Amino acid sequence: MGSHYYSRRFPVSSENELFERFAEFKEDQIFEYGHGRYTGDLKHHGLKVIKEIFTDASKADDYICENTDKYGPAYAIKVGDFNKAYPQTAKEKATVEKFNEIQKVIKNFEKDLIDRVKTSKSAFRGCKKCESKIAVKFVSLIDCPVCHSHDFIYTETDKNKLKALMEKSKELQKTINEQKEKYKNVNAFWLVGGWSPS
Ligand SMILES: [Zn+2]
Repeated sequence: MGSHYYSRRFPVSSENELFERFAEFKEDQIFEYGHGRYTGDLKHHGLKVIKEIFTDASKADDYICENTDKYGPAYAIKVGDFNKAYPQTAKEKATVEKFNEIQKVIKNFEKDLIDRVKTSKSAFRGCKKCESKIAVKFVSLIDCPVCHSHDFIYTETDKNKLKALMEKSKELQKTINEQKEKYKNVNAFWLVGGWSPS
């Protein structure tokens, strides 16, 4: 079995956020390619942050390429000056934080609705459309397992809440894009790379 080198840029963030983004990136690839069909780049890798900071992306790539293998962790290297990159001011940081928070709520929205049903006091949940009574311990999806109605556990209030969250998220994204304008000459990012089995 061979291997190939793979690297990818992630936005300037704290190490914790980078670890979260890296985990999401691997998850997305698994989702996209499925298990067993294609391994997905860096799918099985942990992540190690290298303390040295690079100014040149191609040198950072060379460093990672030479120092990692398909059995060990992927490496993450800071390229450029993180101290000059967006977000800098308290206001900018608060905007990014709020945006990330909302993204998380949106991402977990359906899962949280299912959890809400599972932790409710009723043992059964009725479907308004087909009038089935479903034991909540068997509820694992948003849709009614009998008639597949999307309005099974998804209430109007939930729909409005999600809509408001999406609108807020769009608004914050617009603010972020505007705030980023004055940083467009700052070239800084995390470079994450390693060898994937292929
Ligand atoms: Zn139903």
